[in-house]
Amino acid sequence: MKESSTNLTRRAFCAASAAVALSAAARVRAAEPKRGPRFIDVHTHLGQCWNHTRPLTADGLLKWMDEHGVERAVVMPVVSPEASSYPLTTDFVLAETKPHRDRLIPFCVVDPRTAYSGKRHGLKYMLQRYVDQGVKGFGEHKPGVPIDHPGSLELYAVCGELKLPVLFHLDDQRNTDEPGLPGLERVLTAHPDTTFIGHGPGWWASISGDVRTPSDLGSYPTGPVAAGGAMDRLLGKCPNLFGELSADSGSGAIGRDKTFGRDFLVRRADRILFGTDYLSPGQAVQQFDVLRSLDLPAEVEAKIARENAIRILALEA
Ligand SMILES: [Zn+2]
Repeated sequence: MKESSTNLTRRAFCAASAAVALSAAARVRAAEPKRGPRFIDVHTHLGQCWNHTRPLTADGLLKWMDEHGVERAVVMPVVSPEASSYPLTTDFVLAETKPHRDRLIPFCVVDPRTAYSGKRHGLKYMLQRYVDQGVKGFGEHKPGVPIDHPGSLELYAVCGELKLPVLFHLDDQRNTDEPGLPGLERVLTAHPDTTFIGHGPGWWASISGDVRTPSDLGSYPTGPVAAGGAMDRLLGKCPNLFGELSADSGSGAIGRDKTFGRDFLVRRADRILFGTDYLSPGQAVQQFDVLRSLDLPAEVEAKIARENAIRILALEA
C-alpha cells in the first residue's frame, strides 16, 4: 500500500528529531572523559573450540576487543583431548596471530603425554622453537591428568627455565587435585622459579573453604564464600602463583559474594589478571559488568585490568 504524503512528512520529522536527539547525546558522550580501564585479556581462543560453538576469526576477535576496550589479548592453543572438541595447535595460533602481533599475544602448549626424545633437553628445544616465534606463555594447560602428573612436572621445569608463565585449567577432570589443593601446593613448592596462573572451576571453587570432595572441584558454587579457601591460602604462601578471572567460574566466584569478592580483589590486587575465555562470536561475557559493579579503587582496577599482565607476561607497557 502507498503511504500518504502526510505520513511521510511526519516520519521525516520524527527521523529528523531523533537525529537531533542522537547528536546531542553523542556530544554529551564526547564531552565525558573515557570511562573505565583499558584491558589486556589473558584468555581467548581462535578457531572452533567446541562442537557447540562457532569459529572465531582474528578479525572477529579484534572487532570484539574494540567494542569492549580490550587493547591486547592472549590467544591460547588447546591440544589435550579433554580440553576442547577440536585441537587448536600452537602452529595455528602462531599463524593466525602473526599479522596482528601488536594486539594478539600467542601462547604455546604441549600435552604432558606427548612423545618426544632427548628427555628434558628435547622438550626444552621444542618450547624454545615457539619462544623464537614470539610466544609469551604456556597454556592453556588443560590435560585430563592429575596436576602433578610426571609429564607436567617436566613441562613446569622447562617453562621455569624459559620464563614462560603456565596458565592452567583446574577442575574435576583436567589437572585434577584433592580438596585443599595439595597437588597444586606440591607443584608450586617444587617449581618456585615457574610462574603459574590459575583458572577454571576447581581453582575458583577453592576461593571458599567449603570444598569437600574432588567432584566439588568441578562445580560452580553460588552463595556466600566460607573462610579458609585453599586458593586464597596458596596465593598468600606462594609468590609464584597468580589467578585470572576468565569464564563463568571466574566471574561467578567474584559475583557469588560481592563483599568477599571485592575484598579479595583489593587484597590480591597484584596477583589477579583480567581474562574472559572469549572463543565464539556473540558469546556472553560477564567480567566487564562484574568488575564495574564492584566499584574498585582505580589503582586496583588498573592492576587487574592490564598492569599485572604487562608485568607477569613481560609485555611492552
Ligand atoms: Zn580457555
